Amino acid sequence: MLVVMKKTATQKNVECVKEKIISLGFSFQEIKGSTITVVIVIGNKGKIGSEQFLYFEGVENAISISKPYLLVSKDLKEKTIVNFGDEKIGDEKIILIAGPCSVENKNQIFSIAEEIKNYGINFLRGGAFKPRTSPYSFQGLKNDAISLLKEVKEKFKMKLVTEVMDVETLPLISEVADCLQIGARNMQNYSLLEAIGKIKIPVLLKRGFSATIDELLMSAEYILKGGNENVILCERGIRTFETATRNTLDLNAIPVLKKLTHLPVIVDPSHGIGIWDAVLPMSLAAIACGADGLIIETHNDPMNALSDGYQSIKPNKLKTLIDKLKLLAPIVDRKF
Ligand code: PEP
Ligand code: MN
Repeated sequence: MLVVMKKTATQKNVECVKEKIISLGFSFQEIKGSTITVVIVIGNKGKIGSEQFLYFEGVENAISISKPYLLVSKDLKEKTIVNFGDEKIGDEKIILIAGPCSVENKNQIFSIAEEIKNYGINFLRGGAFKPRTSPYSFQGLKNDAISLLKEVKEKFKMKLVTEVMDVETLPLISEVADCLQIGARNMQNYSLLEAIGKIKIPVLLKRGFSATIDELLMSAEYILKGGNENVILCERGIRTFETATRNTLDLNAIPVLKKLTHLPVIVDPSHGIGIWDAVLPMSLAAIACGADGLIIETHNDPMNALSDGYQSIKPNKLKTLIDKLKLLAPIVDRKF
């Protein structure tokens, strides 16, 4: 934190600032320029806010220079690899998660799981509880979907990624999920983040559609602070002025996150662009700029899907993607 004094500040004003810094348990260094004085707060690890100084007489500005997060920061650790037994997310190997937006019925989820498993994909996605913008849209099969998900993951020996919307359903979903998805709409549901911090199941934390990169990292910080270090971040598109696509997939976020955090970062091109035949190129772009993996909405009958059909690809399109990823992976120093 830098406390910048006004040109007109008196030495007494500066002393008051220094006393405040000491009273907060930090030390300081004073730098006297030719016209202004700056007091540097030393030892600030995000526990001090600029508002603590702004009301002081003679203070022009208080500028935070240290990062507001600590546990997710690269200063603490180089790399986190989230372990799923025989599968890992965050190491050299690019991972694919595929499956429908929502579980709709037994035939749908079993036929999708079977086909993607045949392509060598070991992570299945599928929502049981769906956060929908409209209360009149399909809300998921809820408990019935949980039973189907238990059966399908057992049958095809797959790791399951499914969304948890609230603290109430967390115990139920934890029975079946290998990875708990926190959706964009819930990225700042702090009681949910705290509850998930207390358990050890890996978490896929999606970026809110109007959240900054710092806000995403602060939400992840909640989970790590609670004791759960198995967090995977997911860029899934943000809302911009553009209306030709569902969202704007912020590929900038990937190299930026990779610099700031040790957590794995994956990309959801399906929600990111919202157009099924644009999912493949955006998937390749995401891997080219450093993503550790992809989560792709995949449906056996997209035209009749109960949610997000237009952005869902048929499973056989994954075969094309896999062939291209095999060529791309070595170019970006990854394995596939
Ligand atoms: C989903 O994955 O189906 C979903 C609802 O995603 P998001 O939270 O990113 O909108
Ligand atoms: Mn969806």
